[in-house]
Amino acid sequence: MLLREVEYAKPASVAEALGLLAENDGARALAGGQTLINVMKARAASPDALVDLNGLDELKGIELAADGTLTIGAMTTYSELMASAEAKARPILGEVCATIADVQVRNRGTLGGNVCSNDPTNHLPPLMCAIGARMTIVGQAGEREVPAEEFFLGVYMTAVGPGELLTRIAIPAGKHDGFAAVTLGADGTCICNAAASVNGSVRVAIGCVDAVPVVITAGSPDEVAAAVRAADLDPPSDVHASAEYRRHLAEVLATRAAKEAAAR
Ligand SMILES: Cc1cc2nc3c(=O)[nH]c(=O)nc-3n(C[C@H](O)[C@H](O)[C@H](O)COP(=O)(O)OP(=O)(O)OC[C@H]3O[C@@H](n4cnc5c(N)ncnc54)[C@H](O)[C@@H]3O)c2cc1C
Repeated sequence: MLLREVEYAKPASVAEALGLLAENDGARALAGGQTLINVMKARAASPDALVDLNGLDELKGIELAADGTLTIGAMTTYSELMASAEAKARPILGEVCATIADVQVRNRGTLGGNVCSNDPTNHLPPLMCAIGARMTIVGQAGEREVPAEEFFLGVYMTAVGPGELLTRIAIPAGKHDGFAAVTLGADGTCICNAAASVNGSVRVAIGCVDAVPVVITAGSPDEVAAAVRAADLDPPSDVHASAEYRRHLAEVLATRAAKEAAAR
């Protein structure tokens, strides 16, 4: 289906973008467009205006601090992250981005768009929760930082409020990480996924089983399956998988991700 007519603006600064979003309740930020344009074509969303973030250098770039913290601009594409020498400090990031969809999507899609759309089948929400990412949100009232666990609020809902933008994601140093997924086809949509990080204890975040990633901690990878069972997950049933099968996958994938993390 063709897009309906929509106003379009390409601001030159974050301040200008915030002004445009504030003055029009029906305006939406446009990042890579890999989700937004598709839902607009399907008429599942119908913004009055698009505020294109692609001209904003303030939202781009990857920096590695002396303490190993990575700061990644929200408009960084998956491909840019995969090619970044700095991002290799936390290798799981590039590894997971390389498994998202296809080259075209990876060249256009952004980390900010992935987490802000919070599709429960997306790869990055559970990964961000497992590795302790912190999101910086800016609005006309100022800036605040939100831990990933508090950022994802519901299906397609995040802590980014009306008129606000995600500007960057901060990721602490670490390398003992793992990710496992069962997808529809080689690079297809996730039926269930899990990310894990080991730092003394094991922190696992499971996707596709609830509106937001389910975060579970365990003493060791061998204890992860029991911890997932104890969480009493109530995943959705759909054409791709029953709730029972997703519950099973959650245990298997969380354990696989935790073992991979511990083995690194
Ligand atoms: C064929 C296909 C297959 C795909 N498969 C997968 C997959 O397997 N796994 C996966 O994770 N993803 C998948 N995707 C989705 C893809 O990763 C998208 O790139 C991503 O979900 C959205 O990123 P975007 O930059 O395109 O954002 P957009 O589509 O431009 O925006 C998405 C939403 O986020 C908001 N937004 C974007 N940036 C900001 C910001 N900085 N601040 C505030 N709000 C913002 C927009 O207003 C919009 O509501 C697929 C997409 C396609 C087309």
